[in-house]
Amino acid sequence: MSKPLGILGGTFDPIHYGHLRPAQEVLRALDLAEVRVVPAANPPHRRAPLATAVQRLRMAELAVGEFPGLRVDDREIKRGGPSYTVLTLASLREELGDRPLCLLLGLDAFEGLESWHQWQRLPELAHIVVMTRPGWSLPAAEDLPTWARGRLAPAAGDLALASAGKLYFQTVTPQDISATRIREAIARSEPVDGLLPPAVLGYLRANRIYLNREN
Ligand code: ATP
Repeated sequence: MSKPLGILGGTFDPIHYGHLRPAQEVLRALDLAEVRVVPAANPPHRRAPLATAVQRLRMAELAVGEFPGLRVDDREIKRGGPSYTVLTLASLREELGDRPLCLLLGLDAFEGLESWHQWQRLPELAHIVVMTRPGWSLPAAEDLPTWARGRLAPAAGDLALASAGKLYFQTVTPQDISATRIREAIARSEPVDGLLPPAVLGYLRANRIYLNREN
């Protein structure tokens, strides 16, 4: 079987090092072929992003220039409509046959997974790789939902042996960064250097994104 492909979906309003560094760490730790960064067109679970889809896509493209092994995938923005992850995984599965797919999620996203559209199909289409995030602690096995317990993979190598169906927790270096914090800081004219790639920051400044707005 070929190396697994990672998928990191998000609003990326804007993309920042809290997305990029953990994704790169997972890429290396799990020996993934690449991680696809997939900006959502219309995220179903939250209010509309402030930056446009085109701007968020462009920022993601600028950002991955700093991270070999990360690549932007524009299928959700091209597809339009609500950006259901199940549709994205199904279209990747169609392209990639039985190659292992790993859906990368922050712990906060994992904890809300059961509210996602057709969430039961997600582990049928991909492995689920949960990245730790500051302020969250790893759940004990007995605290996991029933569907997840039997799927726990003890070793990263297990993910390369099947195309989907496993759950794996990957510890990543905590990055205490959120897009909300960045948007708020920019609106208050506070510095955000070091929180996101300089190329993205340059784009935000040139296009006056997040200035004087309700964040
Ligand atoms: P916002 O502040 O607007 O809610 P965000 O910074 O949480 O945005 P999203 O685009 O919602 O970013 O996140 C996409 C994915 O990246 C989610 O799975 C989320 O859990 C994960 N993620 C976001 N920030 C971090 C971080 N600092 N460390 C690890 N994972 C993160």
